[in-house]
Amino acid sequence: MADENELTGATARRRPKPDVLEIGGRKLKPSTLMMGHGFDPALSEGALKPPIFLTSTFVFENAAAGKRFFEGVTGKRPGGAEGLIYSRFNGPNQEILEDRLGLWEDAEDALSFSSGMSAIATLLLAFLQPGDVVVQSGPLYAATETLIGRILGRFGIQWVDFPAGATEDEIAATVERAKGMGRVGLVYLESPANPTNALVDVEAVRRVCDAAFDADVRPPIAIDNTFLGPLWQQPLRHGADLSLYSLTKYAGGHSDLVAGGITGSRELINQIRMIRNTIGTITDPNTAWMLLRSLETLELRMSRAGENAAKVCAFLRDHPKVESVGYLGFLTEGRQADIYRRHCTGAGSTFSLYLKGGEKESFAFLDALKIAHLAVSLGGTETLASHPAAMTHLSVPEDRKAALGITDNLVRVSIGVEDPDDLIADFDQALKAV
Ligand SMILES: *Cc1c(COP(=O)(O)O)cnc(C)c1O
Repeated sequence: MADENELTGATARRRPKPDVLEIGGRKLKPSTLMMGHGFDPALSEGALKPPIFLTSTFVFENAAAGKRFFEGVTGKRPGGAEGLIYSRFNGPNQEILEDRLGLWEDAEDALSFSSGMSAIATLLLAFLQPGDVVVQSGPLYAATETLIGRILGRFGIQWVDFPAGATEDEIAATVERAKGMGRVGLVYLESPANPTNALVDVEAVRRVCDAAFDADVRPPIAIDNTFLGPLWQQPLRHGADLSLYSLTKYAGGHSDLVAGGITGSRELINQIRMIRNTIGTITDPNTAWMLLRSLETLELRMSRAGENAAKVCAFLRDHPKVESVGYLGFLTEGRQADIYRRHCTGAGSTFSLYLKGGEKESFAFLDALKIAHLAVSLGGTETLASHPAAMTHLSVPEDRKAALGITDNLVRVSIGVEDPDDLIADFDQALKAV
C-alpha cells in the first residue's frame, strides 16, 4: 500500500512523465495538447482523466520539503512553489488547467480564478496603488467600469479612457493626459468592446507605451480577451503583457460554470499570483475539472459557432425587417477592418442585430424565438439573445447609451453550435412575428 500512497498527491507530483510538446520537430497544437498536457495518469491510479482533488491541504514528505515549498510560495526563493501546500494557493486540477490555458497564446504562465471579475479585481490589486491612473479603452464590461471607477476610486485611483476604435494619435494623447495626473499603473483594454464591437489597436497601444515610458516604468498592458479569445484573437502576440478571460463564456462554453483566467509573462503572473494567494480568488477544483473537459472541445465549439454566426449573419443582413448587423466578419474597409486583419483570425459568434423599429419590435422578436434562449451571457453551446438597453445596460445614462449605439432596436446575439439552418429558420419565423 505504501507504493500506492506514493502515486497520489504531493509526493508523486515530483516525478510525472515529461510532457510531449513536439514530435519530430513539429510543435503540437493546443487542440491536441488539451487532451493530456500536464497530467500523468500513472500518478493517479491510471485514471485517464484527472480525479477531482477535494482537499484543503497537502501533506509534506518531510519538514525540509515543507520549508522549501514555503520559500517558493513566499518569494524567498525565486521560481515559485515547488509543491502543493494549501488549496487557497493551488491544487492539481487548477495547475493542469493553468498549464493548458497558457498553451493557446504561447504564454509563459497562467492563473485561474473563481470568476472573470475576481481575475480582474486581483489583477488591479496587483498593479495599482493610491494616486495611480489607469489608462483604459472604453466602453468596458460594466462591472469592470464599476470596479475601477467607483470602488478603486474610493482608494484614490483615477482613470482616463479613449474610445475602443481610437487612432494611435488619440491613444498617445490619452496616455499623455494620464501622465499629467499621476503614475500610470496599468493600461487596461477590452476588445472587441461590447456592444459596439469596436476593436482596439493593441499594436498601436504598445507602440505608444514604449514611446511614452522608460522600459523600467512602462505600465503593464492587460486586455480582456473574453469575446474572441483564445481562438480568434491572441493579444500577447500583438504587444499585450496580460490576456484575461471570463472563462464563463467561450472557454467554459456550456453555460454551466463561472470562472476566470489570466495568461502572460511569468514575471507579471507571479505578481498577480502573490495577491491571489493572499486573498483566495482561485477557482475551485470542481470548476477547474469542468474547464479541463471544456478545453478539450474549445476549438471544435468555437469553430462551429463561428461558422454558424457567419451563416446566420449573412441571412439577417439582407432581411427586410433588419436595419443592420454589427458583425466583425462584415468589416471590409477603413481602420477597423485594418485592426481586424492584423489582430483577429475569426469574427467570433457574438454580434449586434439592429431591427427596424424600437423596443416593441425588439421585444416581439425576442419573445417569438423558439430555439434561441432569451438570456444574457455568451459563448455557450446554445444560442442566446438579449436586449442591452433594457437589460445589461439598463442603468447606463441615456447620452452614454446613445454614444455607444445602445438603442432600443438593438438585440445582442451569441450564436451556439446548433444546426445553422435550424437557427436561420428560428430567426426567420421570429422576424415574421415582428
Ligand atoms: C462576462 C464578462 C466578464 C465577467 O466575467 P464573470 O465570469 O461573469 O465574472 C468580464 N469581461 C467580459 C468581456 C465579459 O463578457
